[in-house]
Amino acid sequence: MPAKVDVDQCLGCGVCVDECPGGAISLNGDIASVDEALCTECGACVDVCPNIAISLK
Ligand code: SF4
Ligand code: SF4
Repeated sequence: MPAKVDVDQCLGCGVCVDECPGGAISLNGDIASVDEALCTECGACVDVCPNIAISLK
């Protein structure tokens, strides 16, 4: 499954956006949004999120 953002936990910091090698994450307002078609499930965003707001299921 592609990375999923917990909108209640996302701080809108943008760290994951810069970390994603596939450019799959963007900020929609102040919430990160994953383009599931571009996500390779590498886990990089999960590792860098300071608030544990992204997960791979
Ligand atoms: S790194 Fe975490 S808190 Fe920051 S924008 Fe991404 S999902 Fe939100
Ligand atoms: S799992 Fe990897 S490819 Fe998918 S959104 Fe996170 S950093 Fe990008």
